[in-house]
Amino acid sequence: MKKSCGERFWKGTPLEEMSAPQWESLCDGCGRCCMHKILFEDTAELVYTRVACRYLDIASCRCTAYRRRSSLSVECLILSPSNLSSCLHLLPGTCAYRLIAEGGDLPAWHPLISGSRESVHRAGISVRGRAVSEDSVDPEELEDHIVDWIRH
Ligand code: SF4
Ligand code: SF4
Repeated sequence: MKKSCGERFWKGTPLEEMSAPQWESLCDGCGRCCMHKILFEDTAELVYTRVACRYLDIASCRCTAYRRRSSLSVECLILSPSNLSSCLHLLPGTCAYRLIAEGGDLPAWHPLISGSRESVHRAGISVRGRAVSEDSVDPEELEDHIVDWIRH
C-alpha cells in the first residue's frame, strides 16, 4: 500500500528551519553526491565520475557508514542548512536540497511525493546499476570513468 506523504513541509518551511527528520527526509537516496568528482584546475570545470565512495552500497545506493562518515571520508559532502549554499555547485541538478534551495519543487519520483523509496531507482535517477566502487578502480584511471548523466 502506498504510504501517506503527509504535509508537503518543504513548501512552507525554510531549509534552515526544518527539523532534523524533515531535513534528512529530503534526501532522495540517489547516491549521486557519493560519486567521485574531478575538478580541472585550468578550466575550473567540475565533472562527475561513476566511481562511488567505498562506503556506498552501490546496489541500495545507501551509505554503509552514515553516522561515521565525517571521520571516514574526507571527500564526503555532509550537507547542513549552514553549508548548503556553498555546496550547491557540487550537487547534481536532481538533488532535492539543490532544487529546494533554488526555489524549485520535488519531482514526481522523489520518495516524499511517490511514497516509495524505490521510485528514485525506477525513474533512473539513482546510481543503481551504473556505479562502480572506488575499491575496483585504479585512482590513476579516474578520468576514464567520467560521466555526464549525473550533473543533470
Ligand atoms: S544528491 Fe542529494 S538527494 Fe541524492 S543522495 Fe546526495 S544529498 Fe541525497
Ligand atoms: S561516506 Fe559520504 S560519500 Fe561515502 S557513501 Fe557515505 S555519505 Fe556517501
